[in-house]
This record gives sequence, C-alpha cells and structure tokens, in this order.
Amino acid sequence: MKMEIKTIGILGGGQLGRMSALAAAQLGINSHIYCPEDNCPASLVTPYFTCADYEDKSALSKFASSVDVITYEFENIPLKTIDFLAKLKPVYPEKKLLECSQNRLKEKAFLNSIGIETAPWAPCHSASDIDDTLRDWQTSECIIKTARFGYDGKGQIFHSDSSNSQESWVSLNTEEAVIEGLIKFDYETSIIVARDLLGNVASYPAVMNEHSNHILSKTIAPADIPLEIQEKAAKMAKKIAEAVDLVGILTLELFIINGDIVANEIAPRTHNSGHWTIEACPTSQFENHVRAVCGLPLGSTQPHHHAEMINLIGDDVKDVPKYMEMPNASVHLYGKAEARAGRKMGHVTILKDKI
Ligand code: AMP
Repeated sequence: MKMEIKTIGILGGGQLGRMSALAAAQLGINSHIYCPEDNCPASLVTPYFTCADYEDKSALSKFASSVDVITYEFENIPLKTIDFLAKLKPVYPEKKLLECSQNRLKEKAFLNSIGIETAPWAPCHSASDIDDTLRDWQTSECIIKTARFGYDGKGQIFHSDSSNSQESWVSLNTEEAVIEGLIKFDYETSIIVARDLLGNVASYPAVMNEHSNHILSKTIAPADIPLEIQEKAAKMAKKIAEAVDLVGILTLELFIINGDIVANEIAPRTHNSGHWTIEACPTSQFENHVRAVCGLPLGSTQPHHHAEMINLIGDDVKDVPKYMEMPNASVHLYGKAEARAGRKMGHVTILKDKI
C-alpha cells in the first residue's frame, strides 16, 4: 500500500499523545506535537515539537505547514483553533464531535436525539433551577456537573436534601451546568470504536472500569458481561460514530443497570480504559487512531488475551519494581518528572488467560 502521510500533527501533549506518537512511529509516520506546556509527555518521544498557545495563529500556521494531517489528544482544544487549522490541513475527528463532547448539555441532547438513553438531565443556570428540577423529578438527590471542563470528577457535586441549593450552585463556580438524575448503576463500562475514512467501523469489546477518588484505577478487559450487553454497547458506539461521521477513535462511557445501558459521556479520542489494547489486541487503540486519521485501513480489534490495566497514580509508581518482576506485566511510564497526588504517572497491563 502507498503511504501518503509522512507526518501527523497532534494537538495536546499528554500521555495519550505520547502513545499515539509511539504507535505512529511503528508505522513509519512522524508525529509533530503542539502543546502550550514544555516538557510534556508526548514531546519527549519525537523531535518535532511546537510549544505555543492554542490561539497563536503564526505558530499554528507553521505547525500546519509541517504536517499532512492533524488530530488531537484531548477535548479542550478551542474550537477556534480547529476552525483555523481545518482551513490549512485535514483535521480528524471533525469539529462536530469535539463541539458536543466539550459541553455536557450539547452532548446529552445529541445522544438523546439519536435515540441513546442518558441519565435524566436538565440545564442549570441558577440555584432555583436545582430546586425546580428536583421538584419536577420528585426526588431530593442529583449530581450537578459544570457543562464544560470537567474531568476525573472535577467540576461536579452530589446534591441531596441536606445540601443548600445556593451553596451547591456557588461551589460549582460556573454559569452553565447540567443536573443529572442519580443512576444506581451495577457497574461502569466503556467502549472504544474506530472508524476509517471509508466509513468502516471496528470496536474493541466493552471493558469494566473501577475508580478511586473519581480517577480510573483499574480496567478489566473484556468486561465480564453478557454477550447481549456487549453487542448493545457496540451498536451504540457505532451509531454515534456514524452520526458524527467519525474519522479516528471515540470512547463511550456507560453505566450498566439491571442489564440495561445508559450512556454517560463521550470522549472524542483514545482513552485510559483502552491502554490494555497495546498488549492484548493485534492493533492498539493508538495504532487504529493513527491508521484512521492517516487514511489507512483499520487493524483487528479482537483481543487475543484477557487483560487487566492498572493506573499508576501519584505514589503508585513506587510499585514499578514489583510489576517489572512479573512475567505477564508490561509497564508504561509517561516521563512525568513529579509524582503529584492524583497525577497519572503510568500504567501497567497484566495479560491474563488467552481468548
Ligand atoms: P463523569 O465526569 O461524568 O465521567 O463522572 C465521573 C464519575 O461520577 C462517573 O464515573 C460515575 O462514577 C459518577 N457519576 C457520574 N454521573 C453519574 C450519575 N448520573 N449517576 C451516578 N453516578 C454518576
């Protein structure tokens, strides 16, 4: 096959960008990282790095002229930056997906508009919206999340009849939020789907996720759930991928409740719950993302092993020597200098039984 793409531009410099750049290198494709922070994890694995603000038009133009295609590794890239770059080079995934995953209100409206169930939700612009919604729903409990910039449990609060609406609203420090009904889920899963330029779709099996202090701590792959739920999750992910004309990877986070699936959120990118695919699948989530945005055909997403992925958060890096002695463990460190509490320093994938 003729390789057209020599260099892929990646907006964002975190570990997802780093692992995408490593996957690109394996395919003989260079990566140029664009990130406002110096010494970011992705910049350390490629010589091509621009350290500049996302609004710096001159730096963006130079970056675009040095690459063949552009993608991003996190969802808070300003839409204006994408608009600017899209006039210069193809940017995948396209803006529609990014736009809806940047705002929880748009995201939920979009999911519901294509027939995908979410937790009950209502927009929130004041303390009285909280009281009015809870009265309408005839409940006293909910979760309130800022519409934008929330991650790892940040920008969200649990509200109950012992809370004061005004205090809850003020504590969110936002102008726009979403009120969500509390889902008493049995477990949390996520599913990653890839779609190429020709519209071919392939999904990895859904996985089961465990969190600690709102941060993903462990992923069990594939999830030990009935085939019927696996198929339902894959159908949902495919529906979203097609509705946004996805080129690349997206991740759908789901709650499973009484055998039913409720969508929580969409990440327009590769995901922490997909790191196990590096060792346990023929083609990792990172490689399939690179393949898709570079116009290459997707590789197999069928795992050959069960796997467990453990995040190394903060001081967990001290356990690395223990994992290094395990014959079935692969250690990944992201090159971050300081092990601050809550910081994802690396992960370990432990291969289990063959599938
Ligand atoms: P999110 O930022 O939306 O991914 O939420 C972070 C975590 O909060 C999720 O992984 C769930 O554990 C929990 N959570 C979020 N939304 C809900 C909900 N509507 N009901 C129950 N738990 C939730």
